[in-house]
Amino acid sequence: MASITHNLHQVRHQIREACERAGRPVDSVRLLAVSKTKPVSCIQEAVAADQWLFGENRVQEARLKIPQLALPKAAFHFVGPLQRNKVKEAVALFQMIESLDSLELAEEIQRRSPKAMPVLVQVNVGREPQKRGFLPEQLREALLVLAEMDKLQIKGLMTMHPLTDNGENSRPLFRHLADLAQEMKLLAIPGVEMEELSMGMSRDFTIAIQEGATLVRVASAIFGPPVQKNFLP
Ligand SMILES: *Cc1c(COP(=O)(O)O)cnc(C)c1O
Repeated sequence: MASITHNLHQVRHQIREACERAGRPVDSVRLLAVSKTKPVSCIQEAVAADQWLFGENRVQEARLKIPQLALPKAAFHFVGPLQRNKVKEAVALFQMIESLDSLELAEEIQRRSPKAMPVLVQVNVGREPQKRGFLPEQLREALLVLAEMDKLQIKGLMTMHPLTDNGENSRPLFRHLADLAQEMKLLAIPGVEMEELSMGMSRDFTIAIQEGATLVRVASAIFGPPVQKNFLP
């Protein structure tokens, strides 16, 4: 099996190539290594290969892993469904919440966070009933409400698109998210930034980069397939 170090080099190479093809500077895209279900030793291997930005999707898991790593230089983004009773802990553990998917969750962050928390607003561009996030037509109204909350630093948009075998199938959704971000930026809502677009996973991150992604969330192409059983430290 290929090593994490080898995989990281491969993914970085693909990111560089995609940036070149898209005429974008290579530092305009950040790689979020999604380490969910993987043990701390995998994160340490990635850090040794100079990867410092990670994604986790469960607070219960992150609360065990992040303190154990004790890496002040590492940053963690939350990318999963966030239960309201875990918000206080999440804002302490994570540097960004990429999955702000409801006004109720935003209100809880507003109540519980001691500091202004960087967030991305999750948009269900694929209109999948089982997926969370705001629908495109709800986004403007939502941003107007969210902009009033001083414990939220709105940095951009994120989407969890449907899984497909062919990455090209994702392209229209990525384009839709990028267009939405452009539209929202033109509204110039005070306190709302639209600099970050988190989209693209292992199968389609190069396509997401062509469509403007600034954060790509990659798990299996770096760490191998997910571990099915619940994480055990
Ligand atoms: C697991 C996960 C990813 C990455 O998945 P891969 O396809 O394995 O790269 C991206 N985003 C979120 C929210 C995830 O949970």
